[in-house]
Amino acid sequence: MTSPRIVIIGGGIIGSLTARALCREGLTDVTVIERDPTYQFSSTALSAASIRTQFGCPVNVELSLYGAQFLKGVKAELGEDAEIGFVEGGYLILGDEATAPARRAALAMQRGLGADIADYDSDGTAAAFPWLATDDIAIATHGRANEGWFDAWGLLQAARRAAIASGARYLQAEVDGFTTDGARVTGVRAGGSVYPADWVVNAAGPASGAVTRLLGIDFPVRPRKRTVFHFKAPLEGAGMPMLFDTSGAWMRPEGDGFIGGIQPDEANDPDANGDFEPDHALFEDRLWPLLAARVPALEQLRLVRAWAGHYEMCLFDHNGVIGPHPELANLVFATGFSGHGVMHAPGTARGVAEWIAHAAYRTIDLTPLGFDRIAANRPMPESAIY
Ligand SMILES: Cc1cc2nc3c(=O)[nH]c(=O)nc-3n(C[C@H](O)[C@H](O)[C@H](O)COP(=O)(O)OP(=O)(O)OC[C@H]3O[C@@H](n4cnc5c(N)ncnc54)[C@H](O)[C@@H]3O)c2cc1C
Repeated sequence: MTSPRIVIIGGGIIGSLTARALCREGLTDVTVIERDPTYQFSSTALSAASIRTQFGCPVNVELSLYGAQFLKGVKAELGEDAEIGFVEGGYLILGDEATAPARRAALAMQRGLGADIADYDSDGTAAAFPWLATDDIAIATHGRANEGWFDAWGLLQAARRAAIASGARYLQAEVDGFTTDGARVTGVRAGGSVYPADWVVNAAGPASGAVTRLLGIDFPVRPRKRTVFHFKAPLEGAGMPMLFDTSGAWMRPEGDGFIGGIQPDEANDPDANGDFEPDHALFEDRLWPLLAARVPALEQLRLVRAWAGHYEMCLFDHNGVIGPHPELANLVFATGFSGHGVMHAPGTARGVAEWIAHAAYRTIDLTPLGFDRIAANRPMPESAIY
């Protein structure tokens, strides 16, 4: 039997790991269409490249646990030349009185799924993390395993090399249209040619909403700008976890300094098409004061640089959208991760490949993240987003 023709739109971490996973399923006709092989504006290259198991939705915990195993065994997965420098430093997520009950319920769910997370009350937090101001802290949770950070660029390059080595074809072109027969997508148009397709995977990251609109389908994923600030401070970073503050500010060690960020206010968070200018006011006005209130050593710091990338923000419920479109059943979505797509790329890729090869999920049941929930207006909000 001939292999189905599979066209993947976007060769970032989602598209490249999906191509690799499809080839590993024995499917041999896999084409990745990527408009910019330098990846300079891709979310993957601009991300904070961290992984946590602490999520509010069980399927996200499962995807993270799978992702962590993949990252730890990356050479077996992607080849001996895969170098990603995984630091298993953990996330430390702080909570106050108001959020503590919900946090304890989430903790029980996460542990039930196999996550290894320590929890502390206010005094315990102060004793374990003496560099923190803890007066308002009622709970802190720290991932002892399967959480940390890595080199997303190294992961992307290894995924792309592995996909090509296992038979995937990469084409440099921009997808600007489709052909359909009403019930299925029959081809993908790019660079003046139409590539016939039995399956199409939308892995276009922050552009996945725009790509979907080419079919006349509204899809609530939009590019939203997020700035990462790199700074140095009189604080020893070695051994420090990734910190998520009650305010929404985050920071973690990076080299001999730190990186950090915070979401802008909703009123200052428009679609960011083409805008990669770091939001410096966010640092001065919000991030620095909030971090210095939580980590007093940060009252003195030196900003080294800042960069901005785009989240592929799912405005519907801040969760990924994985699986087939309810009406165009051979159009498979793998996008909308709203800030956690690198860590969930290995499990997503595996699931998409299983769906296409076997018409069923075999490793993780990804149906809760399906497109159907959008069609049925049944949001599944992810509470732990930063
Ligand atoms: C500042 C920041 C921090 C983040 N931190 C983390 C983190 O700590 N952990 C984590 O897991 N995630 C994080 N994320 C999110 C993560 O980066 C994304 O979820 C993930 O990279 C999405 O991967 P992707 O392959 O879908 O998208 P991308 O890497 O953007 O790849 C999509 C590709 O599609 C191509 N493309 C788009 N449109 C077309 C078209 N029409 N034709 C052809 N090609 C096209 C693009 O050129 C691009 O290369 C962060 C994101 C940002 C911006």
